[in-house]
Amino acid sequence: MQPKILLLEDLPADAELVQVELMLGGIDAEILRVASRESFVAALSSFEPDIILSDFNLPGFSGMSGLDIRNQQAQHIPFIFVTGSLGEEMAVSTLRSGATDFVLKDRMARLPAAVSSALDAHSQRKERERVDRELTTERSLMQAVLDAAQAMIVVLDDGGHIMHANAAAERMASQSRQNMIGCKFWEIMSQSDQSETVRQHLQTALDPHSDVQQPSWPMITRTEQRTVVCSSAKLSSNYRGERLVVCGIDVTEQERAEKHAFFLGHFDPVTSLPNRRHFLQQLSEYCSRRDTDTGTALVIMMVGMARVQEIADSYGDAAFNQVLIEIVQRLRVWQSHADLLARVADSSFALAFEVGRGPDLDMLVPHILEQLREPIKVGQAQILPVVYGGLALYPDNASEAGLLLQAAESALHCVTPDSVQNFAFYTPLLSDQIRERLLLESELREALKTDDQLILHYQPQVDIATGHVIGLEALIRWRHPRLDWLPPGRFIPLAEVCGLMVPLGRWVMRRTCRQLQEWKTQGFVAPTVAVNLSAGQFSAPSLIEDVDATMREFGVEPHQLELELTESASMSHPDASIIIMQQLRDMGLKIAIDDFGTGYSNLSYLKRFPVDRLKLDQAFVRDIMTDPDDLAISRAIIAMAHQLRLEVVAEGVETKEQLKLLASAGCRTVQGYLFSRPVAPETCQGLVQLPFTIY
Ligand code: C2E
Ligand code: MG
Ligand code: MG
Repeated sequence: MQPKILLLEDLPADAELVQVELMLGGIDAEILRVASRESFVAALSSFEPDIILSDFNLPGFSGMSGLDIRNQQAQHIPFIFVTGSLGEEMAVSTLRSGATDFVLKDRMARLPAAVSSALDAHSQRKERERVDRELTTERSLMQAVLDAAQAMIVVLDDGGHIMHANAAAERMASQSRQNMIGCKFWEIMSQSDQSETVRQHLQTALDPHSDVQQPSWPMITRTEQRTVVCSSAKLSSNYRGERLVVCGIDVTEQERAEKHAFFLGHFDPVTSLPNRRHFLQQLSEYCSRRDTDTGTALVIMMVGMARVQEIADSYGDAAFNQVLIEIVQRLRVWQSHADLLARVADSSFALAFEVGRGPDLDMLVPHILEQLREPIKVGQAQILPVVYGGLALYPDNASEAGLLLQAAESALHCVTPDSVQNFAFYTPLLSDQIRERLLLESELREALKTDDQLILHYQPQVDIATGHVIGLEALIRWRHPRLDWLPPGRFIPLAEVCGLMVPLGRWVMRRTCRQLQEWKTQGFVAPTVAVNLSAGQFSAPSLIEDVDATMREFGVEPHQLELELTESASMSHPDASIIIMQQLRDMGLKIAIDDFGTGYSNLSYLKRFPVDRLKLDQAFVRDIMTDPDDLAISRAIIAMAHQLRLEVVAEGVETKEQLKLLASAGCRTVQGYLFSRPVAPETCQGLVQLPFTIY
């Protein structure tokens, strides 16, 4: 390309001379001559010269001033003085001031060589600068790429010192790149107890004689952080020595997520106990390594909690979780092996422990359940956990963990949570019962929805003195689509276990109140109707509110209702029972204790119970004629009740003889087939209006 020469020269003849010399020297240049400061300055930017040739003295301007301007505005452009005589001192001064060269006008033959060499030097410098610029760009690009990588990338020298580090490495080391450079890799990236191991690995990786391409790196740990070294590559260079590029990935979050996923898959988040699946694994392992000659039995005890939904509904999930955690604390006392306690379902736990066979076990199980039944304080509330147990023995009942747990579960399903016998051992017969029970459970759920399968019948209570019906007891029946009429004994205990008792109890209360309303509109003034409350209903926190709301809905007066509570239900937590009974009585309802005499009555409590009536259990009435003990007990109960100013209703009176005997013992009210079986509501009015003939 034709070089551009800016010529600062006032004499055209001299300018021509320059041009000729250059041409003679083979330089075909585009030359622009200027002679004043202004035109020189303008040409620097408009002409963009590759080189400046300048005379020393010009009228009104000077070569040295031109050089000054070049120094300020275009330092990279070569500047050669082409001048007449120039003393040595001046020549040195021009070079010091930044001139590239000078050519004397009487030695113009040197001009082309001087221009060529200045232009060459200039273009070389330009090229160098271009390359430098490109290198800088390339380097920033590389750094950006490395910084964008999520993996740690560091370059180490042969002593293991960090020479380069990307942003991920900075994050892992929690240090700035500047601080890391020059530090030993193992001191910065690993914790002190591991640094020696990391150092040794680096040494192996850097060893020029080692043929190990990729040493298997340990997981690098620094405080909480875990880094997997995924590759290390050795770069050899003759003049710089060995370099090692180490790449690693921070797996802290991934490991945490994996641990969490493992936890969720194997443990219950609320109690942190193993879940069913994990428990089965642990149990299986335990059974396989268990020494069979220990003389003890391995017991799998499934602990169920009844009425958990009511707890959650009434007190909230947080309170329910608190109850679960407290139960776990209590269960831990019995845990003989670290892993063998688990939450195997929403409301059941499994516990495995070794115990001596026979009496040991028979005593231990009720003891465990008793401890679990202690009240739990949650905020202001006292929650009474209703727990029950199902047990299976290894290897007697099953030799495989899954079957063993199933056996314990089958046994559990056969238990009525509120019964005195609140645990059961597995027997093979249980399995069929369980199947039937599960089916019945789902059918009961349906029945509650359809509303035409469940029916209330009413049995009159008769005043012996007058023959008048002074009360009716509401008794539920189930017109079952598959099994025809089912008595309550077939499904009430089931409803208790499977959490249906509260909805079922609500249904009974609503139906009774609706019936009273209907009778009222028909002009029938019905006597007090007694409604049975199961233990589960009785302890449900919503009881009072439910009863109150239902009575209001149907316009029923409290004196129209009596609530019957079994002796065992009221006695299981007497202090709590007293409070609830009192609240119900304060509302104006009557309270009766049902099936009295069969439970384990504590008479001191009975004295404190705010009740109106005792219902003498039919078990005594049945044999009252033949069993002198039953007669004696009946007499004692009636006498004691009168002492406590309680009325007595004798249940299950079937014969006149029984009636007479009960009357002679002081009983004034009876209920039984002698007068009437429980009847459909339409029949009640007729029964109530005509007094019965007593003898
Ligand atoms: P319960 O409250 O003691 O009711 C008396 C039971 O004795 C009734 O049985 C009744 O039909 C029966 N019975 C009455 N008189 C005689 C008699 O002279 N001879 C004989 N052998 N039996 C007689 P049912 O209806 O089968 O009820 C059994 C139990 O089921 C009830 O005992 C009660 O505990 C429970 N139950 C019934 N309905 C309900 C209900 O709506 N809610 C709750 N929670 N439990 C109920
Ligand atoms: Mg009853
Ligand atoms: Mg009864």
